[in-house]
Amino acid sequence: MTSSQFILSLCLGLLVLRWLAATALSNLNKRHVQAHANRIPRECEEIMDPPTYARSVEYTLAKARFGSLEDNVSTAIIIAVLCLKFLPWSQSVWTQSFGSGAWAGAGWLIAVGMILSLPDIPFSWWSQFRLEDRFGFNRGTPRLWILDRIKMLALALLIATPLLALILDLTRRIGPLWWLWAWALLIGFQLLMMIVAPIFILPLFNKFTPLPDGSLRDRLIRLGQRTGFTAKTIQVVDGSKRSGHSNAYFTGFGRFRKIVLFDTLISQLTESELEAVLAHEIGHYKRGHLPRMLAWSTLSLLASFALIGWLAERPELLLAFGFQANAGFAPVLLLFGLLSGAFTFWFSPLTHFWSRKHEYEADAYAVAAVGGPSALSGALRKLHEKNLSNLTPHPLFSAFHYSHPTLVEREHSMSRGFSASPSTSTPT
Ligand SMILES: [Zn+2]
Repeated sequence: MTSSQFILSLCLGLLVLRWLAATALSNLNKRHVQAHANRIPRECEEIMDPPTYARSVEYTLAKARFGSLEDNVSTAIIIAVLCLKFLPWSQSVWTQSFGSGAWAGAGWLIAVGMILSLPDIPFSWWSQFRLEDRFGFNRGTPRLWILDRIKMLALALLIATPLLALILDLTRRIGPLWWLWAWALLIGFQLLMMIVAPIFILPLFNKFTPLPDGSLRDRLIRLGQRTGFTAKTIQVVDGSKRSGHSNAYFTGFGRFRKIVLFDTLISQLTESELEAVLAHEIGHYKRGHLPRMLAWSTLSLLASFALIGWLAERPELLLAFGFQANAGFAPVLLLFGLLSGAFTFWFSPLTHFWSRKHEYEADAYAVAAVGGPSALSGALRKLHEKNLSNLTPHPLFSAFHYSHPTLVEREHSMSRGFSASPSTSTPT
């Protein structure tokens, strides 16, 4: 076996292995959920009534079946595309028409990305207008759905093409350390987007309005003052335009920080529950989770670019997938994008473990900030009920797929933490 054949077999093997593991985990979870389907587990009895619980089981299983089908199709497509040498063929056709400059390379990457994402369109449509609709979550219209896709395509063309062209240009102008510059460029771009996206991009999709004066606003402002957390504005986003699912989040940083509440969240929760949800989000800030996550993603991006830089020096990878040895950096970027998920999948329990630790810390902060676990717990229960969340995931499945602890785990941790250390009821 030549080294090219070995690399191809190794990569295909890893893709298949990830798919097998994901399928096995999904089946394990389906069986686990079904085993608990007839009776609500004792610890969940207060969270959902039996009809809602039955519906959450049905929703979980329907989503799992849909997710498996989607994964089967997308894995089969990637493997077929790699084996049938579609990528090198498309590159040579593209180069004959548009040349091999940086802009042409970027155009090829965008075109291939668009072709490979074509199969997602029917899945996305089915998910919104069949699956979500069946459970009463769909609020969008086909017209809005189509408009969203057109806007996203336009944004990808406007933003991603020049960025990719710039990176490909760096590979030509700068010596072997181009990947370090490309990494710095991407980090700068990410920081810029954190400021620009809430101002120019998100309003293309949703309407943001300031939270009107009143008792809720006063309460949230007081919470901000009490915890020493100031945000420029509190805004309401019309999430109900597309979906009945609810959420709250922050955008921007420093001076540009904004608190965003979904209108669906405001209609589902009481004022004290909303205050607790916001206190949880403030907890993420106060415990320094965001800079840590940012540092982690910056470092992993650096590692990725170092690897891309190393791979680009070796023709074996390109030859393995049917490219010419001098096909340039664009195919290396593309192959990395297509294959990296097969590696990173195995690390997801680690990253999720870390993220859960943050959730527990933010919960503890919120409990202390609002003086007890009942408001946050009430909010989480309602959100689980309204979102028909799965209350009984298999532990192994949740290790790979859940960035948040389950509701039962969170409630245990909240009540333990609160009764163990009542002196922490004034946050600092
Ligand atoms: Zn959180």
